Amino acid sequence: MAVSAPVITVPAFGSAHDGVRHFFGTRHRTPVAYETGVPLLDSVARDRTWTLSVKQVHGTDALIVDRPITRADRFEGGWDALITDQPGVTVAVRTADCVPVLLYDRRRKAVASVHAGWRGALAGIVPKTIELMVARFAVQPSDLRVSIGPSAGPCCYEVDHAVLDPLRHSRPDWPALVRDDRGSKARLDLKALVRRQTSEIGIPQEQITVVNVCTICHPALFYSYRREGRVKGTMLNGISLVSRS
Ligand SMILES: [Zn+2]
Repeated sequence: MAVSAPVITVPAFGSAHDGVRHFFGTRHRTPVAYETGVPLLDSVARDRTWTLSVKQVHGTDALIVDRPITRADRFEGGWDALITDQPGVTVAVRTADCVPVLLYDRRRKAVASVHAGWRGALAGIVPKTIELMVARFAVQPSDLRVSIGPSAGPCCYEVDHAVLDPLRHSRPDWPALVRDDRGSKARLDLKALVRRQTSEIGIPQEQITVVNVCTICHPALFYSYRREGRVKGTMLNGISLVSRS
């Protein structure tokens, strides 16, 4: 991981050499004022590039952007995953403790970003997004690279029965995903859950990277809903295919 604040990048995950650009945000890169669902034209870049972030609803639906974005486009609705095969479109999710997950397939030229809180993760948003990439862009899970970004860590992320009950019902391996289990309360390792899900769907271990940093532990770096008790701000996390020249 490279912390060239204001963003974190993971060279082992991907670089311009791989045909992608990506970043995990910190609180030092507050998203410029924009409305969710309205593509933002990055006028600084030499190439014409767009950043798209939409309303997030803690569901499992993905928005697929499979044609060029225009100035008139509005994406009105709620999605917690965005997939595109369009170069120059940064698909971005906003997080503050939830797990940002970035994916790409350099062979099929498709990228995705996913916002996975406990609700979305338990409902399988990450495997569902991968299945959609397979169905729509003929992606092979064995070709996919995934990076799991900064989120609330098992050091701090205490959850109660509302999370533990569905976790215990859906994951026989749940004891490996919690720490300090006291029955009605435990600390959840959400990144480990997402990591297992990506592995189970066929992404090779060596193609999975994890930024093992906790958003609650690092107030200088991250906003945290849990630590701050309210949404003071969110981190923007995105990935794009590099534009053809
Ligand atoms: Zn922590």
